[in-house]
Amino acid sequence: MSIKHHLTDALLMAYSAGELPEAFNLVVATHVSLCDECRARLASFDAVGGAVLEECEDASMTPDALAATMERIRMGSGAPIHTDAATRRHLSALFPAPLRDYVGGDIDAVKWRPVGGGVRQAILPTSKDASVRLLHIPAGAAVPDHGHRGLELTQVLKGAFRDEHDRFGAGDIEVATEADVHTPVAEPGEDCICLAATDAPLKFTGLLPRLAQPFFRI
Ligand code: ZN
Ligand code: ZN
Repeated sequence: MSIKHHLTDALLMAYSAGELPEAFNLVVATHVSLCDECRARLASFDAVGGAVLEECEDASMTPDALAATMERIRMGSGAPIHTDAATRRHLSALFPAPLRDYVGGDIDAVKWRPVGGGVRQAILPTSKDASVRLLHIPAGAAVPDHGHRGLELTQVLKGAFRDEHDRFGAGDIEVATEADVHTPVAEPGEDCICLAATDAPLKFTGLLPRLAQPFFRI
């Protein structure tokens, strides 16, 4: 799979720290399971996070305090989905392992609902601070009534779409903010299947690590 569009460092850091809403965790885990480059970058952020905790322990923390810190990180707003699970793959499946676990199967287990213009969607159950859906966009069709008021991650699983910014093919992830007004259109010739997460209006900013916030506005 040749992947051109990747996760930002800020998103990988926030994922590693357990700071992302569950819906974003799922999309990040799905991309990481498909992408060797992002998996390697995530491993380095995980290592840095672990080293910081070890230093704390050397200084003055009791083992209990370390455990409490780890628990706080885990409780944030959803622990990162374990990457061992993310790297498990079934060759015949379209969905990577983290997504299959949410859906309870592969694409044939999805309960699609029409949203107009031939497009179908299936909203997956997650915590309410953000939402995540599967989108099935017929070849040549546009995503109707498309708007988002915060951060949006769109992972392409099959086919490809174009918007005003670029082309996104299977494996690519688009990171869009509210500043990006765009109309994704599936390329002719093949239906496009995506996994897209958006934050609930006005809810996301407070959940992000302060350090990471400026990166989201680039
Ligand atoms: Zn990547
Ligand atoms: Zn969008």
